Amino acid sequence: MSDNHQRLVIPGPVEVRKEILDAQTEWMIGHRSTAFADLFARLQGKLRQAFFTQSRVFVQGSSGTGLWEGASRNCIRDDKKALHLVGGAFSERWAEISKANGKQVDVIEVDWGMAHTPEMVADALKKSAYDAVCVVHNETSTGVTNPIKAIGEVVRGYEDTLLLVDTVSGFLGTELRVDDWNVDMALTSSQKAFALPPGIAFAAVSDRVLARAKQIQYRGYYFDFIEIEDSLLKNNTPSTPPVALMYAADVQLDSILAEGIENRWARHAAMRDMTHQWAFTNGFGVFAQKGYESATVTAVDNRQKGINVDDMAKFMKKKFFEMDKGYGKIKGKTFRIAHMGDMQPTMLEEVLSGLTEFVQG
Ligand SMILES: *Cc1c(COP(=O)(O)O)cnc(C)c1O
Repeated sequence: MSDNHQRLVIPGPVEVRKEILDAQTEWMIGHRSTAFADLFARLQGKLRQAFFTQSRVFVQGSSGTGLWEGASRNCIRDDKKALHLVGGAFSERWAEISKANGKQVDVIEVDWGMAHTPEMVADALKKSAYDAVCVVHNETSTGVTNPIKAIGEVVRGYEDTLLLVDTVSGFLGTELRVDDWNVDMALTSSQKAFALPPGIAFAAVSDRVLARAKQIQYRGYYFDFIEIEDSLLKNNTPSTPPVALMYAADVQLDSILAEGIENRWARHAAMRDMTHQWAFTNGFGVFAQKGYESATVTAVDNRQKGINVDDMAKFMKKKFFEMDKGYGKIKGKTFRIAHMGDMQPTMLEEVLSGLTEFVQG
């Protein structure tokens, strides 16, 4: 590659296609113009399809973390509790954010690499009342996908309990049906399987969430869901939105809908299978619990084989691939191969054959 571009194989930010990068260079428009309202309305329609929801989709200038804070502030009343399902670095951080906003939090903690089951949630809901169950769809640190549909079936039985789902690294890479699965809020950011540049976040939000928000006095300002909804009804945002990123999202959603969302899920699942095959053939394991392995990112279990992940990353850099070396307390014991976004199986093959060369070299 002549321009020395390092292709991103890390689990976010991911590679963004040139066409999508270029879409950001359109002339700016004022966000109180009709041109902006048209753009916003166009995005709404496509985002609803992408989330499989009839409700609204918030569009926020922030990363996903901002919407974590918004979810906690707008959905958990001060005298009530939230149930956080914790089993990796990201689910842990969301629980911290709820606490940092003064919310009362109970956690169901599983070992890193394990999934949460609907039975665990059912037990907890029988014992105590919760304003919200907060769960990470796809735990990026461990490569585990939680059974959101089954958890949704459990939460459905509790009128006062909202189901809040972080699908930052799952959305548009693995199945998620917001309305059918009883999800009240599904939040995501742009730079994972959506394959957009970072800096914009999205959330499907149910009427139940807005009803809850109205019962909470101090929702904060930037992520006040009632204000955001008031603007959304006018195809607008309360403060200045990331217009360039919205141009990019507009074009990217056209590509995604042309590919077909189910086809996109299937492409990701096929790349997961290729990655597992590579791992097992080369003497590695897969860190995630069997049956819950992520379609968008594989945490390769390096504990038996024990390759030096720094050397691996250096070797791959010469092939113009930027690799991950594992996250948090399982760094090195695992390393992650992201197979998400607009990555095609042909590029993944190139990555895996580079890795084979390193392992066998
Ligand atoms: C990356 C990630 C986040 C954090 O999102 P930002 O956009 O970086 O704020 C949250 N949750 C999961 C599961 C992630 O993968």
